[in-house]
Amino acid sequence: MKATIGAHLPIAGGIDSSIDRADELGFKTFQIFTRSPRGWGYPPINGADEFKRKRGDRFVSINSHMPYLPNMASPRDDVFEKSIASLSEEIRRAEQLQLDFIVAHVGSHLGKGIDYGKRRVVTCLRKALGSMTGGMMVLLENMAGQANSVGSRFEDIGWIINEVGDERVGLVLDTCHAYAAGYDLALEKGLLSMIEDIDRFIGLKRFRLIHLNDSMKGLGSGLDRHARIGRGFIGRKGFGVFLNNEIIQQRPMILETPVSDYHEYIDEKRTAEELVLK
Ligand SMILES: [Zn+2]
Ligand SMILES: [Zn+2]
Repeated sequence: MKATIGAHLPIAGGIDSSIDRADELGFKTFQIFTRSPRGWGYPPINGADEFKRKRGDRFVSINSHMPYLPNMASPRDDVFEKSIASLSEEIRRAEQLQLDFIVAHVGSHLGKGIDYGKRRVVTCLRKALGSMTGGMMVLLENMAGQANSVGSRFEDIGWIINEVGDERVGLVLDTCHAYAAGYDLALEKGLLSMIEDIDRFIGLKRFRLIHLNDSMKGLGSGLDRHARIGRGFIGRKGFGVFLNNEIIQQRPMILETPVSDYHEYIDEKRTAEELVLK
């Protein structure tokens, strides 16, 4: 068993309680929001010192996920400026907590065209990264191919990363999003060609994290609907292919599947682990 599988965990009761939950579930990797994901605000972090004290060195990686409202590709100047401020603030918070990665969705150009959107994201990243001091990374998450989305193809994410020209920008691969965007990672052939694309356009050394989600919608549907592992279109067979690839196994994996209580991530992890043969 080589794969390191964890999940997105709640921070209710103080941010350090996420570590207690990870320990309770036996996770060596996990993801959190450092603030409410549904607003623009960023109140001081409750429990930051306890978080650092409890953290130790037993975790392979801990990362935060950006809130939902920022859109790095937005053509609206007010939203764009707020998105730069929001990412800059997230970088400050992640540094305070000594996290390994920040996950950010690439965004939506809202009809202005993909080239416009990509340039907008580059500007946003350059500005926000100016305030980043440590070796932490901002990982761009591939999108599900929704209308107007900017980062559903690895060549587009690769273009952005090369243009930003900063080694602290990388990739988090979301399996549900990739499948919905038309990458058939449930079959050996599709998986290998997707990994080849990631290597060619982005580089495997920048591919640092995986979001492990099944998809409620079909291949190329363009819809972002997560399903529990083995219960969607990728299915047990597809995850059997995916999880037995060595390049995949080397990256920490975060479950973001629709559970009603975070304890159910133990079952999700077990389902995934049962599919790993080597
Ligand atoms: Zn994701
Ligand atoms: Zn999603």
